[in-house]
Amino acid sequence: MDLGDIEEKISILSGAAKYDASCASSGSNGFTGKGGKKFGTSMPMGVCHSWTEDGRCVSLLKVLFSNVCKYDCAYCVNRSSAGIKRASFTVQELADLTCEFYKRNYIEGLFLSSGIFSDPDIVMQKLIDTAKTLRTESGYGGYIHLKIIPGTGEKMIREAGFWADRLSCNIELPTEKSLMCLAPQKSGKDILGAMNDFSGLKSEFEETSRKSRFMPKGKINAPYFAPAGQSTQLIVGATQEDDRQIVNLSSSLYKKFSLKRVYYSAFIHPGGYAQKENSVLSDPRLPETLSPPLVREHRLYQADWLLRFYHFSAGEILSDDEPFLDAHVDPKTAWALKNLDFFPVEINRADYDTLLRIPGIGAKTARRILETRRSRKITIETLQRMGAILKRARYFLTAGGAFIEQPDDPVRIRRLLSDTDGAGMQLPLFEF
Ligand code: SF4
Repeated sequence: MDLGDIEEKISILSGAAKYDASCASSGSNGFTGKGGKKFGTSMPMGVCHSWTEDGRCVSLLKVLFSNVCKYDCAYCVNRSSAGIKRASFTVQELADLTCEFYKRNYIEGLFLSSGIFSDPDIVMQKLIDTAKTLRTESGYGGYIHLKIIPGTGEKMIREAGFWADRLSCNIELPTEKSLMCLAPQKSGKDILGAMNDFSGLKSEFEETSRKSRFMPKGKINAPYFAPAGQSTQLIVGATQEDDRQIVNLSSSLYKKFSLKRVYYSAFIHPGGYAQKENSVLSDPRLPETLSPPLVREHRLYQADWLLRFYHFSAGEILSDDEPFLDAHVDPKTAWALKNLDFFPVEINRADYDTLLRIPGIGAKTARRILETRRSRKITIETLQRMGAILKRARYFLTAGGAFIEQPDDPVRIRRLLSDTDGAGMQLPLFEF
């Protein structure tokens, strides 16, 4: 392989992939290649950091197979009308490159997507062939996340899931109307159809696995199918939808298609903000934003956390009257301040779901409270040692009947608990 040529391809095709937020490796134990061989377990081009669901940081080679694209999505740097340098890998080049980076411990996995350079089945086949080559010829045991190309058939998704740990199909925009406006060649029906195919195949695989446990060895061979599930990406702020529409959509995607994650990606203008006006990538369909809406993205991740781990419903987080998340406080605190009659919660009596409603008490702390309560009473002093954030929790609980502070004035509490001093990023996602 010509190294100069490959370097240029990495530079073009990793730069082209950086706007896709839908990758985080999780829930997979890896893959054993031909003959049971595995190898491998400084950051060159194309390597990005990503976080697993348990908070572990992993590095992925995040790259496109090709940035040649027939579609003309207004928000995308790779759109057909953009006068940018184009490049494509061959299957062998990409497999060799991934193995090389993996052996040198630059990466723990591959995230592979592509522009739509041909019919969806042909593009999908290239991604599948790359994963298959890695698994069968290179003995690669690392993580693989493949993009599902909307419009590809169920057969291709089945095969992709056989070689990859995770698959994802990007929903991109919250409504069909917005998709029609900014990505007219894409179809919501194809995107949701792919998610539905995945979910059907996953159930089929789980059923076969379940049956195979009761059969004599070798009678039923459960196929391998994307153990880390499926995810998607939603661009935030490129169109007019409010947070309520986005949270409702995510909630229904989790329920209908058992998605592992919805990733929210603050809209980044493809022409850049400083020279947007003159850029060849400026487009009258795109909003006049000056910077990516990062605080909004962060609040949506927190609301998503409430849906997935804190047992909130979408209707509890936002309503028709208040369709946007509060930029100043996290959505759990915002809910608590609107529902003060739910509080105080007595931590020596409340069940798990009720404990989770207290701002400053996350899932880990709630479990610790339940465990500790079996042998002794919880006091305010022990609560802090268990990980509760008393700065937030103090207004919403009692311990043995004692308040830390009465929630007399919700306006004052909201001001005191505001975490946006411009950036809005102080509060971690894991416990709030
Ligand atoms: S299909 Fe749209 S979003 Fe995907 S690479 Fe092509 S132009 Fe970009």
